[in-house]
Amino acid sequence: MKKKIKPCPFCGSNAEIICFNSEYGTVTIGCTNEKCDITMGKGFFSDEEAITHWNRRKRNM
Ligand SMILES: [Zn+2]
Repeated sequence: MKKKIKPCPFCGSNAEIICFNSEYGTVTIGCTNEKCDITMGKGFFSDEEAITHWNRRKRNM
């Protein structure tokens, strides 16, 4: 069962899982809005872990 990714806390656009480091196979989550273009700036070894962290994000992080 896949967790749902919350929208970007900054602009409300959809967020998606993106590759963080292809060598280590880590992923992160970033905003799909090119003008916003934020990511978590940190890699995770599973989609679920990345989503958990993203969904906890607050605007001031
Ligand atoms: Zn955004």
